[in-house]
Amino acid sequence: MNSDVNSPTLETDATWTTADAEALYRVDAWSDGYFFVNDAGHVAVSPEADRSRAIDLKRLVDDLRQEGLTFPVLIRFHDILRARVEHLNAAFARAIEEFGYANRYTSVYPIKVNQLHEVVEEILDAGRPYGLGLECGSKAELVAALPHLESDDTLLICNGYKDPSMLRLILTGQQLGKSVIPVVEKFGEFEGLLRLAREMDVRPRFGVRIHLSTRGAGKWAESSGDRSKFGVTIPELVRIIERLKAERLEDALVLLHFHLGSQIADIQPLKQAVKEVAQVYVQLHARGIGVRYIDVGGGLGVNYASGYSDHAGSINYSLQEYANSIVYAVKEVCDAAHVPVPALVSESGRALTAHHSVLIVEALQAYRKDEIQPDFRPAEADHQVIHELYATLEQVRAYRTAPPDRLPARLLEAYHDAAEKRQESNLLFSLGYLPLEQKALAENLYWSICRAIHEQVDFDAELPVPAELLALDDRLIDQYLCDFSVFQSMLDHWAIGQRFPIMPIARLDEPPDRRGVLVDLTCDSDGKVSHYVDADEEKDFLELHTPRPDEPYFLAFFLMGAYQDIMGDMHNLFGRTTEVHVYFDEEEPNNYYIEKTIPGATVEEMLSLVQYFPNDLHRRMNGLIRRKIEAGHLRPKAGMEILARYDAMFKQMTYYNPQDA
Ligand SMILES: *Cc1c(COP(=O)(O)O)cnc(C)c1O
Repeated sequence: MNSDVNSPTLETDATWTTADAEALYRVDAWSDGYFFVNDAGHVAVSPEADRSRAIDLKRLVDDLRQEGLTFPVLIRFHDILRARVEHLNAAFARAIEEFGYANRYTSVYPIKVNQLHEVVEEILDAGRPYGLGLECGSKAELVAALPHLESDDTLLICNGYKDPSMLRLILTGQQLGKSVIPVVEKFGEFEGLLRLAREMDVRPRFGVRIHLSTRGAGKWAESSGDRSKFGVTIPELVRIIERLKAERLEDALVLLHFHLGSQIADIQPLKQAVKEVAQVYVQLHARGIGVRYIDVGGGLGVNYASGYSDHAGSINYSLQEYANSIVYAVKEVCDAAHVPVPALVSESGRALTAHHSVLIVEALQAYRKDEIQPDFRPAEADHQVIHELYATLEQVRAYRTAPPDRLPARLLEAYHDAAEKRQESNLLFSLGYLPLEQKALAENLYWSICRAIHEQVDFDAELPVPAELLALDDRLIDQYLCDFSVFQSMLDHWAIGQRFPIMPIARLDEPPDRRGVLVDLTCDSDGKVSHYVDADEEKDFLELHTPRPDEPYFLAFFLMGAYQDIMGDMHNLFGRTTEVHVYFDEEEPNNYYIEKTIPGATVEEMLSLVQYFPNDLHRRMNGLIRRKIEAGHLRPKAGMEILARYDAMFKQMTYYNPQDA
């Protein structure tokens, strides 16, 4: 990679170890043991959270480069998906055992979180021993999910608003003997379901989504509570019960469902909601309605930021506490009412898929405010303002070896001098008294002074740092131009400010010497990573290394596998990245094998999504060139070469190609 400067600014620290890198990037807080820094200073991936059995991510990326894959690459670690499924089910099994809960737990995977077929199949496969099922929320998802119910007992829970054709397909599934359960959102939907069932002569089974009075905490709190758009209210539920009794369909209502919203930050409202729904369950039981399942929805959180704190992006409970809380709360309510406990269902999505995918992005350029050459001396002919700026620089440099009394005040004074001279140079330039080259020198000197001042500010000092010097901290952050699109790969960052852990995949045995902000390839000013994972919520830069010439600098973006993995949009027509599906295998070189590679989007593919087609574009381009040839502006041979070059672009990948010299 190219770099415009090589001089490190942060102190180099001889005692730096890979453990310091783990601490700096807060790997412990978000990795759940699946990622760590190995002795070589590389990121390593261990599906079993066992450091002795791991894939070296740097080596994997080197192999992918050798094979000529185009970056960015999204790597799916399928073993992590499997591990998450096992982890979730084991936690509920432990809770059931501990509290002597006399029924079972089933997880259903809500496919909206990541519908990619391979992801769904892997989760189903890993979940087979536990009877894992699926959840769908739309017609297309239902059509995708239904044929995957191999066993008749496998649950398929259907949420969302359902039109008659969707309800009909659900009832057809029931006729086939499959456990397809529509969850009724509104009284009207219930009536529609009964009508269709009568028409089709099926004895329907269904669930209801309970409109909770408990509100969740966190970003999606509006999914529940009085103002939520979701769920059947208690008066509606009473009417449903009356209708069921009148029609002798008491066994049709089999499931009670609620969903507090995604990424539940605080466990307390969840416990409250579970108790509320368990109360509905025992009351229905007393009225002869034999509900079989309580479905607690999704919302099991993932620690994106610092562990167990109340910062945005983190959660205050463990997976085990989540399972314990649900099992215990339902049992407590049922025991008090002497009602047998129901089977439990959860629709955890994020917690299953977030960890498995890692985006690998190359930093193409590191931009830093231009500075003066270290050995610069002003020449006699240079403008007065250059001489003055240089004098200020020399003065600040001298403070390094001989700090004066009241250093902060002196630094501030120097900063004011520099700012004044810079303004003067702007004025001189606009009046035509300062040539372009002299103006460039003035800019470079100004930034050199700023950096020399910044270096000497003690940001941890007891006395408050002057505001202008504090602001310097921001203004001197470098920009790292990265080969990706925030709108494709980090949509949740752009849309809802979600922070994702990001770190270099190598050189972690060296202390990072620069502070950078990552910007993407799109021409959108929002196309950057504005917030980074830290103990400090305000962190808006990432510690990075000064790139070395001719050595690519790769960054890994973690916890990419939920929601936005599938939501990426077409901003600037970048589109899908290349994908590789990796499995851990100790018998293979470098401990892995690649099961599948899915190439990223080509120019042609992206264009066709917005109704441009190669034939038509070729015809137009051809016409344009022919007219130039006819007018004598272009030799026919050169014209045909231009056309060929244009046509070749259709097959190109949309992202930056560093190999394209
Ligand atoms: C989105 C959604 C889920 C998944 O939530 P996670 O937070 O990803 O676990 C589950 N159930 C319903 C009804 C949903 O809308």
